[in-house]
Amino acid sequence: MANLEASAPPSDFIRDVVRADLAAGKYPFPVTRFPPEPNGYLHIGHAKSICLNFGIAREFGGVCNLRFDDTNPTKEDVEYVESIITDVKWLIRGWADHCLGLKPRGEVPSRKGRDFYLQAVTGRVDDAGYEPFFASDYFEALYEFAVELIRRGKAYVCDHTAEEVDRMRGAPDKVGQPSRWRDRSVEENLDLFARMKAGEFPDGARTLRAKIDMASPNVWMRDPVLYRIRHAEHHHTGNRWCIYPTYDFAHCLSDYIEGVTHSICTLEFEVHRPLYDWILENLDLPRPLPHQYEFARLNLTYTVMSKRKLMALVRDGIVRGWDDPRMPTISGLRRRGVTPEALRHFAYNIGITKYNSLTDVAVLEHAIRDDLNKRALRRLAVLRPLKLVITNLPDDHTEEILAVNNPEDPAAGTRPVVFGNHLYIEQDDFMENPPPKYYRLRPGGEVRLKYAYIIRCDEVVKDAAGRVVELRCTADLGSKTGGPTANRKVKGTIHWVNARTAVPVECRLYDRLFTVPEPDATGDFKSVINPNSLEVVTALCEPALAAARPEERYQFERLGYFVLDPDSQPGRLVFNRTITLKDSWAKIEPKNQPGVTQAE
Ligand code: ATP
Ligand code: MG
Repeated sequence: MANLEASAPPSDFIRDVVRADLAAGKYPFPVTRFPPEPNGYLHIGHAKSICLNFGIAREFGGVCNLRFDDTNPTKEDVEYVESIITDVKWLIRGWADHCLGLKPRGEVPSRKGRDFYLQAVTGRVDDAGYEPFFASDYFEALYEFAVELIRRGKAYVCDHTAEEVDRMRGAPDKVGQPSRWRDRSVEENLDLFARMKAGEFPDGARTLRAKIDMASPNVWMRDPVLYRIRHAEHHHTGNRWCIYPTYDFAHCLSDYIEGVTHSICTLEFEVHRPLYDWILENLDLPRPLPHQYEFARLNLTYTVMSKRKLMALVRDGIVRGWDDPRMPTISGLRRRGVTPEALRHFAYNIGITKYNSLTDVAVLEHAIRDDLNKRALRRLAVLRPLKLVITNLPDDHTEEILAVNNPEDPAAGTRPVVFGNHLYIEQDDFMENPPPKYYRLRPGGEVRLKYAYIIRCDEVVKDAAGRVVELRCTADLGSKTGGPTANRKVKGTIHWVNARTAVPVECRLYDRLFTVPEPDATGDFKSVINPNSLEVVTALCEPALAAARPEERYQFERLGYFVLDPDSQPGRLVFNRTITLKDSWAKIEPKNQPGVTQAE
């Protein structure tokens, strides 16, 4: 396959910063982090962020910490923690797993632990002694940092409600109104904050706010909230806390505690950056400090990306689960048969910029085809069978043909395919009254059967309802490879399976989940769901597929790439079509309609 690992590492403005920082001796090596909130499954947008953060660690000899940004007790769940660990490990498998920053199980980094963590704590992917980082492990340290800010006169306890705080914040063109409690004494603030922590006040009664500048042109700097009261059980810390830090307070300090050097996030956090720096600067922490950099998030056509919307698809039963192969989740793409290499390749191809844009899903599909073309084993299968009998061969005729497993990879070898006189071909590969330029089978017409003979259709057998049920054909017995008429030209080649040995399997054929390129732009993404995004057929396939293995990728010739689904049982295999061989959406033009294209 196009070797991502061997090709020159990508270059972009964030990698330029890292390179310059290392050259200037600012850090011995970069420490990045991937900080998902465990409130849903990871999607392909997260894959872009994972590839960037782990890619930098990999290319510059650094570490990327997997950290759960779990400071919000109410929306999070351990189910998501487990799925995120699985997805991250899968995506970086064999590529950057040595850069995966984990911590010794059970150990909690403290604010003093930073030097230790700067020495690259990396666990091995399957090492049971290691676990990811959790921002909630830093609640104690964060609390102490908050107390420190109060002591320095940089934070105060405010008794306004959330609505009042919002209203008094003003707007970019209108200065904010200071809180009535802005000038509380340090002693009073320390006392109130301790009592907030002790659980003396109900939810929403008080907040801890940074004392910055109510007239700042950046509204995020107008005394932002650092802590809220929330009497809620947390999936990681249980009932230990009833005050929780905000994203802004927790994030920069979690980065600091872990010794992160480059904290990379999406563009909407650009306005938060002054606050990120303010908190670290005002605690007067030892240098070097982490710095935040922003890049444009991934948006894809025919896709919704936010976890909230993906959750709605699952909840409303529009898809079968988070890992439904139609979902843009990492687990959905994995189940569909997409490889980590294809996703990494896609992430590298789209690059890192500072401008939000919409990426055509065809770019992803191209990366998937490119990857599978190089690795997939070729197999014969028929999705919608039509019986075909060869009349000039004896009824018990069998003939073994050696077929190449993968023309892109000689090491994949060959396999025997058994030809006989009772076959199935694809219904689409025969037309009784074809339009011009139809190069497949027609009454009186000729095609080549892949790996075998040229045949001519002599007779069309129909049932009482007039449906075509069988084709009776004669084979040109000299037309096989090496035969006297082997080089005779016919325009079409079609695939087939041997009726006597074919194995029935379930095939799940997927299409895009949405009918329009920008489902979000409609204002109601559920109104543009493609009702035909899943078709299930019973296909007949060559017996070699009965031994299909979960990690193996197959090309069913002329039909697309397929992978075994976990729903498979012995004797009842289920295949997902990962993708067709060509972009089927280009077929909308009449000249390319199914049944009219030239068979390859
Ligand atoms: P969503 O809005 O889909 O729920 P999120 O941003 O809330 O996503 P987090 O769990 O907070 O999800 O994200 C973890 C990391 O992944 C963050 O650093 C975030 O910036 C990044 N990320 C999320 N979505 C995208 C995307 N579409 N493209 C690139 N990076 C993304
Ligand atoms: Mg989020």
